[in-house]
Amino acid sequence: MIIDCHGHYTTSPPQHEAWRAQQIAALKDGVAPPPRPAISDDEIRESIEGGQLRIQRERGTDLTIFSPRAAGMGHHLASAEANAVWSEACNDLVHRVVELFPRNFAGVCQLPQAAGVGPENCIAELRRCVEELGFIGCNLNPDPSGGHWSGLPLTDRSWYPLYEAMVELDVPAMIHVSSSCNPNFHATGAHYINGDTSAFMQLLQADLFADFPTLKFIIPHGGGAVPYHWGRYRGLAQDMKRPLLTDYLLNNVFFDTCVYHQPGAELLAKVIPAKNILFASETIGAVQGIDPETGHYFDDTRRYIDAIEWLSDADRQRIYEDNARAVYGRLSAQLERQRSTEGATT
Ligand SMILES: [Zn+2]
Repeated sequence: MIIDCHGHYTTSPPQHEAWRAQQIAALKDGVAPPPRPAISDDEIRESIEGGQLRIQRERGTDLTIFSPRAAGMGHHLASAEANAVWSEACNDLVHRVVELFPRNFAGVCQLPQAAGVGPENCIAELRRCVEELGFIGCNLNPDPSGGHWSGLPLTDRSWYPLYEAMVELDVPAMIHVSSSCNPNFHATGAHYINGDTSAFMQLLQADLFADFPTLKFIIPHGGGAVPYHWGRYRGLAQDMKRPLLTDYLLNNVFFDTCVYHQPGAELLAKVIPAKNILFASETIGAVQGIDPETGHYFDDTRRYIDAIEWLSDADRQRIYEDNARAVYGRLSAQLERQRSTEGATT
């Protein structure tokens, strides 16, 4: 089985994101936003069959761990109350995708974070998504200010109530920023990679996982700049008299394979232990074109993993399936339930 741990609903029916724009405009004008728009099952089917599902088939992957569009979260664009309504709309829509295509998708939720608001406001929505909608993880924005980084690091105790809920529910978080408030930082080219790199460094500087030994984070986009600069981070940890990174971070921190060229994927697999790498493509996402050097889509990351000749079969199996099952603690039980439902209906 090939599990892609990083997909967003970037092809949602247009009235969904149009409503968010209306909501933000209404907030600015001090009037009530319009009600959430109607979206039919057929519109959802169409948006998935021509997009994610077609790509799964073409590339031979089986299941996408699926969340609302990351740049669309826009935690810095509205109040916590408005973001709560928006998160609910986004998560409900992902839930409908999973209900329509249960073999192909598992849900991950957006959290109603907001700049200057403590993350404990996210616990109710996390619980709803996991306990009522069957989601298996969440996306956690390390910078809900959208590029100001005005909040406290991920290791600050103010994040702990949310981590306690994650541990109790057995769900990991993908550390994922949203859009950028500053044109100096292109969202997917700079802000995302900065977010990944900054989050890892925050974790390096503290002892979060001594307090939460079972808490799990996935750092996407290949871990930002981290694997490429692994020596710098090992050296910084040593200078700070920290233990070895492998001992105090790599039981809890994982990297995905959203690196869009062969040398990058090889470096990731060479530097980071295979047990810490989860297959992902972030399709349909930041980079949608074809690489003229290879003739294949940049984000067809399966090709890169398949082409690493020195990777053992056991490690490839870890990257494609086993690690995702281990990190997303609720996934295997959900797949099992799905299989038995299918067995009962056939
Ligand atoms: Zn993403």
